[in-house]
Amino acid sequence: MHNNIKNVKRCTKCILSANFPRIKFDEKGVCNFCNNELLHSTEQEDITSATLEVQKLFDDKRGKSEYDAIVCYSGGKDSTYTLKLAVEKYKLNILSFTLDNGFISPVAFKNIEKVVTALGVDHITYRPSYEFMKGLYRVSSLENIYNPKTLTRISSNCNSCISIINITSLKIALEKRIPFILAGFTLGQIPSNTIYYQNNYEFFKESRKPILDKFKSEIGPEVSRYMEISEDLLKSSESFPHNINLLCMEDITENEILEKIKPLGWIKPGDVDGCSTNCRINSFNNYVHTLKFGYSPYELELSHLIRKNLLSREEALEKLFDQPEDQINYAKSELKLDENQILKNKVV
Ligand SMILES: [Zn+2]
Repeated sequence: MHNNIKNVKRCTKCILSANFPRIKFDEKGVCNFCNNELLHSTEQEDITSATLEVQKLFDDKRGKSEYDAIVCYSGGKDSTYTLKLAVEKYKLNILSFTLDNGFISPVAFKNIEKVVTALGVDHITYRPSYEFMKGLYRVSSLENIYNPKTLTRISSNCNSCISIINITSLKIALEKRIPFILAGFTLGQIPSNTIYYQNNYEFFKESRKPILDKFKSEIGPEVSRYMEISEDLLKSSESFPHNINLLCMEDITENEILEKIKPLGWIKPGDVDGCSTNCRINSFNNYVHTLKFGYSPYELELSHLIRKNLLSREEALEKLFDQPEDQINYAKSELKLDENQILKNKVV
């Protein structure tokens, strides 16, 4: 099925495929997502109000804590640009944070070093044990853990990795009383009503419980260390930090982003797929998702960029099809997984 992503019918405007959930095409071959005017105007309203609110929040809290914000910094192009915006546009005192998932490209690590040096920010890297990360990816590849709606935007493996990033950054923010957590998501990766938000702690705990229980039963009690926050820490803080995605409020093309981060010393790694600029397990994650669902987890995000004229349809397709076989095989052998196991949906 993986090879068929080149032959499947796609929207003639964006790149959503016939396998995408709830898709319909009109007589011109344009999809219902491209034709949904309401969706576009709602999104524009969300961006306008977020821009005003975020500025107010920053002005209110700037300079009052050890750090103004923690930036979840993967070393990829989007989070690099987010870090630059945080420092230069919003004048925030930043602690940047990288989760080393065991699959970060060595070039991405060099980029991180160059960029945090050029921007003059403090930086920490956290690396959970490689065995744990591999177990997490194995379970996320084999089991159906997440809501199918979540998986229209992101692969199961990426989502698991991101929950560790979210939890770790929240722990650091609570411990150091940092009022903001910034990440480099774009619209298309996240819905427009989550450009900025503040988690409610009861809701946060409740919503995560079924997923945590599943991971604990498959991997073991060490899941708590990486994916849970102690009750004491949660209760010790008067308020939860705000999560903000600065990139959602910028109208900027991918090429413009690349131009802006070049002076910081950032270069594109050669050992990643067309959809990632830092992570060497991403092509495997896409492969698993495509095997299970028949479409790429990047279709929605890339299509969104096309609709906003930030990427051409040709560029998007090129990224989608650039999924190097050697990288997929590398992850398969590290995780000891093959196609049959993934399709059987069983844990070995
Ligand atoms: Zn479309």
